[in-house]
Amino acid sequence: MVSSRPARSVTILALVLLCIAPLLNAQPQQPAPGPVDLPKLSDEATTWLRDLIRINTTNPPGNELIAARYLSDILTREQIPNEVFETAPGRGLLIARLNAGPISDPTRALLLMGHLDVVGAQKSAWSVDPFGAVIRDGYLYGRGAIDDKGMTIANVAVMVELKRAHVRLSRDVVLLAEGDEEQGGDLGMDVAIHKYWDRIAAHYALNESGRVMMHGGKVQYVGIQASEKVPVDVDVVAKGTSGHASIPLRDNAVLHLAAAIETIGAYEAPVQLNSVTRAYFEGLAQVEDDDVAKWMRVLDTPDRGEHAARVLSDENTVWNSMLRDSVVPTMLQAGIRPNVIPPEASATLNIRLLPGNQLEPLLAALASAIHDPRITFEKQPSIGEPAPSSPVDGGFFAYLQAQARQEFGVSVVVPLMSTGGTDAAVLRTRNVEAYGLLPFPLNEDDIARMHGNDERIPVASFRQGVDFLYRVVSGFATQPQ
Ligand SMILES: [Zn+2]
Repeated sequence: MVSSRPARSVTILALVLLCIAPLLNAQPQQPAPGPVDLPKLSDEATTWLRDLIRINTTNPPGNELIAARYLSDILTREQIPNEVFETAPGRGLLIARLNAGPISDPTRALLLMGHLDVVGAQKSAWSVDPFGAVIRDGYLYGRGAIDDKGMTIANVAVMVELKRAHVRLSRDVVLLAEGDEEQGGDLGMDVAIHKYWDRIAAHYALNESGRVMMHGGKVQYVGIQASEKVPVDVDVVAKGTSGHASIPLRDNAVLHLAAAIETIGAYEAPVQLNSVTRAYFEGLAQVEDDDVAKWMRVLDTPDRGEHAARVLSDENTVWNSMLRDSVVPTMLQAGIRPNVIPPEASATLNIRLLPGNQLEPLLAALASAIHDPRITFEKQPSIGEPAPSSPVDGGFFAYLQAQARQEFGVSVVVPLMSTGGTDAAVLRTRNVEAYGLLPFPLNEDDIARMHGNDERIPVASFRQGVDFLYRVVSGFATQPQ
């Protein structure tokens, strides 16, 4: 069968070529995308969240390093590259990443953020152990259940599923679990930005804040945080004559300070709207009761705007703060003995400026209202970043809006300006499009427990938040280039 030889050789050669052809053409060993199992992921994420709550990261002292290592173990088991950095003894942060290709491209990357530390809990005021991660009546109780361990674990879960399902990414997805958020971020976000920017650099970011607002058992609207007020601390100082307390003095610093504080308490900065708050009130007018909604609709009109702002400010303390710069006295210092008139008395004012506003005009307005030469202001070292708003027209924001509408079946998805600060501000100063998307459906009562007693998250909401975040991130991170 000599004649058949060449034919057989050709056949074998063809078979060999057929077998190796896919290898020659293919990308270097990228496994085919596999099935996504979100129910299983939510089960695991609930366990991880309970474990993380049980690691007490009350700040101070923080102790985030143990929490960072706990997350690192999960990620390492899933073969997700990650690094833990110790920012001070016992303090730390974690960075993990899934790259779309061999070279990372920060101009397209998406950063997922969550913080590891929590505020303190007054154990006696809780009905359960704040660090016990008890599940009762469908709620998972624990300090940090919402703020922000829930979000941190949801981010971890998203990374895990992207990896398990071999999702073909078109942009890098980076995870940052930072510490020290509740105490200003010197040992957390500041270190991440100044020391590890090359590892976390991204053009898009998702962080805490924002809300999926439940009312009457269903989602009423979704708010995506796009901006935040800028915190500044200022001391107001009164100076007078010191003396024996048996002889009253008219220039007693305590009296002058008290009068100044009273004036500050009555002072209201002018109402100002910006692109975020304008869109927020316009959107909210569609879901609020008409007696409130009618004022939201005329808030931006010259003739009825002022009265509308008055009504809305009286109706809701958060709306009041969203409409203007706010000045809140928080600490008083005066005197050393009951029988000595002190030469000086002072108070700390926690001021929250609307983005873009300057401190000086506000202090000038306060000084003229107080009208007392014995009173001066002393600005304290800066505590917040004067960050611009992230865009709220098109792009990533529009994508998030569309995803939220689809997931929760609501038409109203509004941008939010938070009155409190978050770690997103410093990213916005670096031109990152950062948004607050707390993905868990929560009602007013749930939200009020953050930083309060009996903080808890509905287990069903946590699970839905994990699913939703996975869909948001996987959709965005696989968009064609
Ligand atoms: Zn937080």
